[in-house]
Amino acid sequence: MKDDVEDLLLKGSILDEQTKYEEAIQFYDAVLQLNPEHEKALLNKGLALISIQKNNEALQIFEKLISVNPNNFFAWVSKGVVFNQLKKYNEAIESLDKALLFDPNSGYAFYNRGIALFALGKPEDALDDYDRALTYNPSHFIAINLKKSLVLEALGQFEAAEEIRKSIKAKGMKHDNHDIVDEMDAHTFANILKNTQLVNNQINFGKFVLRCSNGFEDIIQYNHKDWQLLGKTHQYIIPLLAGDLKLAIQLYYNVSNFWRLFCFSKINGVSGMLFSVNLSTEKDAKGAIFLTQKLKFSGRFTGNEKLAAAHRRMKQSIFAELLRKLHYDVTDNNDVILGIFDTNQGKFVNTTPEKFLEDFIAISILKGHFMGNKGYELEIMPSYNRIQKLSESYDANIDPIKIPEKFVEQKGKRTISLSIRYKVLIRDGRKCVMCGRSPEDGIKLHVDHITPYSLGGLTAFENLQTLCEECNLGKGNRFSC
Ligand SMILES: [Zn+2]
Repeated sequence: MKDDVEDLLLKGSILDEQTKYEEAIQFYDAVLQLNPEHEKALLNKGLALISIQKNNEALQIFEKLISVNPNNFFAWVSKGVVFNQLKKYNEAIESLDKALLFDPNSGYAFYNRGIALFALGKPEDALDDYDRALTYNPSHFIAINLKKSLVLEALGQFEAAEEIRKSIKAKGMKHDNHDIVDEMDAHTFANILKNTQLVNNQINFGKFVLRCSNGFEDIIQYNHKDWQLLGKTHQYIIPLLAGDLKLAIQLYYNVSNFWRLFCFSKINGVSGMLFSVNLSTEKDAKGAIFLTQKLKFSGRFTGNEKLAAAHRRMKQSIFAELLRKLHYDVTDNNDVILGIFDTNQGKFVNTTPEKFLEDFIAISILKGHFMGNKGYELEIMPSYNRIQKLSESYDANIDPIKIPEKFVEQKGKRTISLSIRYKVLIRDGRKCVMCGRSPEDGIKLHVDHITPYSLGGLTAFENLQTLCEECNLGKGNRFSC
C-alpha cells in the first residue's frame, strides 16, 4: 500500500509539472481515499487547486492539513498565499506570521507577506519584507525586484524604481512567458505617462479645442488583469454635442503577446477601441521604441466587397490627409508617428510626454469619428454616416460601381439649443468670461461662439462661451482664441 501511495503521488507531481492540474488532483484524491490525512497529498492538492483558481476549495484543504499537523510550515505559508489571492490581506499576514515561526528564513513567506502589506497600504513594511525575501531567496531576483519597483513607485521614488528595472533588464530573461526587457520598458514608459498631465486639460486640433475633465469612477473594462499599468490615471470626460465622451488610456500585455497602449471610448452606451500603438514590435536593437501606427480601417459593410474596400481606402486617405494638415507626422505609407521613446534613457527623443499624450488622444478621437461606429461624430469633420447609408443601399445589379468622390460636407446648426446654453452658462460660472461680471452686477449674459459661426466656428460646447452683452458686441467677428 505504501508503494501505491508513493506511485500515485509521483504521477500527480508529474502532471503538476505539465500544468495538468485537474488530472493531478485525481491522483491526490486517490491517495486521500487510502489515507485522508496524508499531508503531502493534501498539500499538493491544495497547491493544484490554487493553480486552477479554486481558492476557496484550496483554503479548505489547507485548513484540513493544519488540523492534521498544526506545525506544518507549508500549510501555513500556502494558506497565506490563498488569502492573498482572495484579497483577504489581514488573514494572509496572520498565516504568514505563523509560517515564519516555523521557518524564519523563508524568502517565499516574506515575499507573500510583502504583497499583503503593500495591498494594505504599508509600502515601507512591504519593502522590508521584499529585501528579506531577496536575502533568503536570491534566485527569485526578478519576481521580487519587480514587486519592489512597484512599491518604490508608490512611494514616489521613481529613480530608485528605474534603477531596479535596469538591474532586471540586465538579467534579460523570460518572466511569466514574456520578455522581461519588454516588460521593464513598458513599466518605464507607463511611469512617464502616469506623471504626465494634459496641458490645461485641453486637446487641440489645429484651431479647434476640446476641453477634458479628468477621471470617472467606472472603468471601461476590456482587461481584467491587475497589471493594466496606467490604472485610472488617464481617464477623461470630453463633452460633445452627442453627450459625454469617456476615454480610458490603458497599457497592458494583450492576447497577441504585445505591450500596447490603447485608447478606449464610451458614449451613450456605445463603447469600443479607438486606437493603439505597439510598444513591443516597433523597438529597434538600440532600445528605441517607435510609437507609430498604420492608419487603417476595418470594414463592416454588408454590401459589395469592392465598394467596401474602396471605402476603407478612401477613409484612410482622407484621415491621413487630415492629420497631415493638422501637422502630425504621417508617412507616405499612411503610418502616423507619434514619437520615439528611448528606453535606455527613459525619455522621448522627439516630443514631450505632454505632447505625446495630447497627440495620442487627439488622433484616437479623430479616428473614432472616421470609424463611424463609435457613437459620436465631431462637427468639425465631414460626416461619414451619409456615405455609409449610401453604401448599404447599394445594389450591384442596378448600379455600376460608383465610389463617392468625397465625403458630404456637414452643415452645423447656428442655433444654440437651450440645454447647451444652460451647460455653457453653468460651466462658466454664470459670469462673463471677459470681464467677470454676472447678472448680480446688473448685466445680461449671452452664450456666444468663440470662433464665429461665420468663420466656420461650430455650435459645439467647446466653441461656446458666456459673454456679457457689452463684451459680446465689442467682439464682433474677431477670433478670441
Ligand atoms: Zn463682459
